[in-house]
Amino acid sequence: FEISIDWSWLLIFFLVVSTLAAGYFPSLRHHFDVPTTWLLGVAAAILLFASVLIHELSHSLVARRFGIDVRGITLFIFGGVSQTSEEPRSASEEFWMAIVGPVTSIGLAVFFGLLEAVGIAAKWPMPAVALVGYLSTINFFLGAFNLVPGFPLDGGRVLRSIIWGATGDLGNATKWASYSGQVFGYLLMGVGFAGIVTLGSLIGGLWLMFIGWFLTGAARASYEQLVVRQALSGVPVARIMTTDVPEIPAAMSVRQFVDEHLLRHDYACYPVLVGDEVIGVVGAEEVRTVPAQMWDMTPVERIAHRIDGAYKVSADDDVWDALSKLASPDVCRLMVMEDGHLKGTLGREAVYRLLRTKMSGM
Ligand SMILES: [Zn+2]
Repeated sequence: FEISIDWSWLLIFFLVVSTLAAGYFPSLRHHFDVPTTWLLGVAAAILLFASVLIHELSHSLVARRFGIDVRGITLFIFGGVSQTSEEPRSASEEFWMAIVGPVTSIGLAVFFGLLEAVGIAAKWPMPAVALVGYLSTINFFLGAFNLVPGFPLDGGRVLRSIIWGATGDLGNATKWASYSGQVFGYLLMGVGFAGIVTLGSLIGGLWLMFIGWFLTGAARASYEQLVVRQALSGVPVARIMTTDVPEIPAAMSVRQFVDEHLLRHDYACYPVLVGDEVIGVVGAEEVRTVPAQMWDMTPVERIAHRIDGAYKVSADDDVWDALSKLASPDVCRLMVMEDGHLKGTLGREAVYRLLRTKMSGM
């Protein structure tokens, strides 16, 4: 289990600290001095960060209760994302996993709100009261924003789980939750634009437009990802792999490889074999590492790019799982293995072909 921070969070952290220190805390008119406002800014930003983390941890805890493996949490620009290795299996699981986040944030808002009331009553120092007051407000907004019923926000997942539960159709539920996310995204952009035009609030308006644009894109992308996932899941690699790519014996000279294979086919790389065993791959990139006058005396084995598990899939693996390996830019083709032997190879074009076929039939 690991918690990682997207680079965007560092930028956001700096922005939050400076907005709080230069804008929010001075605007409360408690007349704090400058060092106090900056100290408050840093403390508030760290506690905001912790609040987002608690929100994400609540998702992870519920996921674990359902036996869904959570690999880690990534904090990024608008909060965090829990990396689960699988999708929820039922509508009710998804409902509870999603709703717990906003509920936790609103719970934190209530907690800090009570603390603020206690602080005022007990005459705590004003900076402390201002700090818990801020945390109450920001956690409320965090909870409210995540409740917006647009996929992939928590509220969108709640909406999806309700449609899913009512219709039994996950694909359709995702489609509607994604549309809803896009509509809310455009709405936010519209409100932001109207704010700039009518109220002249440039920064606030631009923020809303930016968040709306982000939400629209995320809603569309997460639906497309689901469509692709559905199309590629359940299809074994063996069904779309090719056996056309020639296997290159490790002892073949680079010259012979270039003349007989590289110049005659379109493949990005070829498997290199010693006897029965794949030791690596070779393609134009490897050939370029040897001057042409050396091609006759250099065996392919010398230039072959050695491969590891990242290059191999099993013949009965899902195409969806193979795609995550193909997404790595280092991998030119996957070696499809069965009982330790090379059965064929799988390139990106085969995955596109399958997608095209499936999509045209939808
Ligand atoms: Zn959440």
